[in-house]
Amino acid sequence: MSRPWCALVGAGPGDPELLTLKAVKTIRRATVLLVDDLVGPDVLATALAGVDAPPRIVHVGKRGGCASTPQAFIERLMVAEALAGERVVRLKGGDPFVFGRGGEEAEVLRAAGIEVEVVNGITAGLAAGTSLGVPLTHRDHARGVILVTGHAREGGQPPDWAALGHAAAQGLTLVVYMGIAQLPALSAGLLQALPGDTPAAAVQHATLPQQRQVVATLGTLPAAVTAAGLGSPAVLIVGDVLLGLARAGEAPADPVRLTA
Ligand code: SAH
Repeated sequence: MSRPWCALVGAGPGDPELLTLKAVKTIRRATVLLVDDLVGPDVLATALAGVDAPPRIVHVGKRGGCASTPQAFIERLMVAEALAGERVVRLKGGDPFVFGRGGEEAEVLRAAGIEVEVVNGITAGLAAGTSLGVPLTHRDHARGVILVTGHAREGGQPPDWAALGHAAAQGLTLVVYMGIAQLPALSAGLLQALPGDTPAAAVQHATLPQQRQVVATLGTLPAAVTAAGLGSPAVLIVGDVLLGLARAGEAPADPVRLTA
């Protein structure tokens, strides 16, 4: 029997055309496919179109609420299926190694003697910028990007938003994942270091037909997001790279679509 194998595959931000060729190829080799919440049916349909023997598909989204410790449950399932000889593909939103616990899953699999293959995906933060037509590192405005989570792990410290604001003031664009529920605290913290008129945006469902966005300023974003009714999954972007859009007051009515 060949060595137990599992792949962690990035499904990209949502638009099926943003799957990589390697992701599609790897998904089509699966006998068992463990699928995240953030991966939509169109992505699965595109990747599996015309496949001879479709894999067993298990939806392991945390919102599905299959167990009280879903992450531990998912990891046990991956290990058990791979050790039983299945070709396990864990399909994750965006990139498997940008948040979303791909790193922890790879460690658990390797510790169980399972060969791990990782396939990059386009991460939501990069897709969100492009879907607004905003280059996150436009050199007139930014010398880099910080990808940061707004969500503290259980028992952990929330991010030091004032410190991140100081970093942003040095010309680093902030891209915040899982931050929309913390928006008032995030904005108040950043405002300790950044002016109130610093451009700030929220993009929900980036690259999907239901994408919605608000472009405002750091001072006005929390109220604007509430007024627009935006929620998770969303990425926040803060920095002068948004300047053109913020001056216009809002993002283009027809947001720039990503092209493959
Ligand atoms: N591995 C993923 C991130 C997982 S964490 C990636 O690389 O994109 C989950 C968070 O990702 C969400 O709370 C949200 O902040 C962000 N996210 C994922 N897909 C998104 C999308 N289509 N639009 C906006 N944000 C998204």
